[in-house]
Amino acid sequence: MPTSIVTGGAGFLGSHLCDFLLAEGHQVVCVDNLDTGSLQNIEHIRDSGFVFVNHDLTEPFQIEERVDFVFHLASPASPIDYMRLPLHTLKVGSYGTHNMLGLAKVKRARFLLASTSEVYGDPQVHPQPETYWGHVNPIGPRGVYDEAKRYAEALTMAYHRQQGLDTCIVRIFNTYGPRMRPHDGRAIPTFLRQALEGKPVTVFGDGSQTRSFGFVDDLIRGFFLLVTSGEHLPVNLGNPHEMSLLELAEAVIRVTGSQSEIVYEALPVDDPQVRQPDITRARQLLGWEPQVSLDEGLRRTVDASWSDAARLAAPR
Ligand code: NAD
Repeated sequence: MPTSIVTGGAGFLGSHLCDFLLAEGHQVVCVDNLDTGSLQNIEHIRDSGFVFVNHDLTEPFQIEERVDFVFHLASPASPIDYMRLPLHTLKVGSYGTHNMLGLAKVKRARFLLASTSEVYGDPQVHPQPETYWGHVNPIGPRGVYDEAKRYAEALTMAYHRQQGLDTCIVRIFNTYGPRMRPHDGRAIPTFLRQALEGKPVTVFGDGSQTRSFGFVDDLIRGFFLLVTSGEHLPVNLGNPHEMSLLELAEAVIRVTGSQSEIVYEALPVDDPQVRQPDITRARQLLGWEPQVSLDEGLRRTVDASWSDAARLAAPR
């Protein structure tokens, strides 16, 4: 039975990954300091092959057992979180990634880095293939996240090239689904919360900026295909169906049957104007394709988490 470490395993994506790996028969060690994650996300897990370790990965982490895979997801991920925790975001991307690559080396485990479409910044190439090097502002408020991930990618490739470590890098585009925090500031949970509460849905700018939203189950399936492949260079995973934020707001209002109106607010600094993955490599290397449509994914998200009124009532 393979053993996987999932850092950030009590977060949104990490908790879904833990569920998936357990269903695949893995032993799972979930390591998280609960900075932006929550025990609520993993409290449903009853599997005897699951262990939770409360640990800050900017400090070295050791484990006695054999390890086959290290999935390194730990990092604040929403702009609200990483702008609140700028130094921590840089530290977990640097020291944290060093620590986990070092562990993977000792254990001879395959290492997966959860990187991000933010490495492309406000892209000048559209859609973004993995060969595009990006247009990132290092000194803007988003720089702490974007540069931490770019550094983590450089570090991962250095461990691979110089130390012979078996690594892979997934560049994740906007992903949504159950267990997102309604107050985490990302577009879909914000719009869903506002629509379900009957409050105005707040779109930044004129809403013409575009994003591509992927459902979490599709992404996690892609993680598994990538980690079990022999690929080392970055692979984009995201839904190439691009839409404006205004279209997203309309979709959320339609799916929730809300009476909310749409209002407009100032655009945040360095908010990317367009974002759309080129998933040719994922298709060719992994045979991966998103399967869940936006309306279906929104419905599943509402059914699974937003029906819980307590989550709505408790900002955190
Ligand atoms: P999340 O905030 O829900 O999860 C991150 C987890 O990491 C949390 O549980 C948090 O407590 C943990 N963590 C943070 N710092 C830590 C530390 N020092 N030690 C131990 N644990 C720590 O965010 P998410 O959306 O699940 O994102 C997971 C990963 O995927 C992140 O690396 C993020 O950059 C990447 N990503 C996510 C998206 C997305 O759309 N959700 C897009 C691109 C990239």
